[in-house]
Amino acid sequence: MTHWLISANTKLYNHYKSFKDHGFIDWKMSSRYHVGDIVYVYSSMPIQKIQYKTVVEEINMRFSEIRDDREYWKDLNAYNIAKSGLYARFRLLERIDGYELSIEKLKQHGLKQAPQHPTKLSGTLLEYIEKNFQQNISIVPQKLGKNNSIVENIYPDEIDCPEKIFEGAQTKVMVNTYERNSKARAKCIELKGTHCYVCGMNFEQMYGEIGKGFIHIHHLVPISKIGKEYQIDYQKDLIPVCPNCHAMLHRKKLNGESPSVEELKKIIRKRMTALNLDF
Ligand SMILES: [Zn+2]
Ligand SMILES: [Zn+2]
Repeated sequence: MTHWLISANTKLYNHYKSFKDHGFIDWKMSSRYHVGDIVYVYSSMPIQKIQYKTVVEEINMRFSEIRDDREYWKDLNAYNIAKSGLYARFRLLERIDGYELSIEKLKQHGLKQAPQHPTKLSGTLLEYIEKNFQQNISIVPQKLGKNNSIVENIYPDEIDCPEKIFEGAQTKVMVNTYERNSKARAKCIELKGTHCYVCGMNFEQMYGEIGKGFIHIHHLVPISKIGKEYQIDYQKDLIPVCPNCHAMLHRKKLNGESPSVEELKKIIRKRMTALNLDF
């Protein structure tokens, strides 16, 4: 869980009323928030204080999925510009309004300058901010995630690899450990980059900044072939794949086996040719 400090432009939007009326604000995502992260909201001039403590309840929502909040916008131009991109839902946990979290005080406790872009909080500054809110134990709201379960990291990269989502068999989880292991991950990316080995997709090319470095890692060795002595070979055993191809690699064909990378590539090629698309 990460603690963030973000800035609310009070000239553009009425955050106070929006939080008061609905208990949450759908905020343009300019950082990689995860569900459960805590976000402190600093109100810009003329207020210049941290006033809200929120928790990230949902991420990666499109404009069409968010609450209509046009009435809280003071500047409709800015509203229209904000319509693109992805949003996160910040659920209000607590509002305070005191001198203790004013810019002067924050600076005395380690803040460099008035926040503009989202920054991660840590150390003494975070401690200081936290102790000014009553609820300084991290609370898990009732309705986190879509299935009422507590989701620490909602998007697949670091959460469950598909076998967990789709099948959940005990033995499969072992393969999973290689795919989720951060050293194995780093090694694989270092050797092979972040393009999908099956379809070629690259998240940074596709989504720009927000996609940078995002990729799944797939472990090629079937669990049945792994003995106790298994030593992972980063070059041979791991490949970067996009979440779609990853899911397909873990699906079973009619004969009960999962498709190989080559097979999957062939399938895509054939279909693309049939559809007359380049691949
Ligand atoms: Zn792919
Ligand atoms: Zn996999």
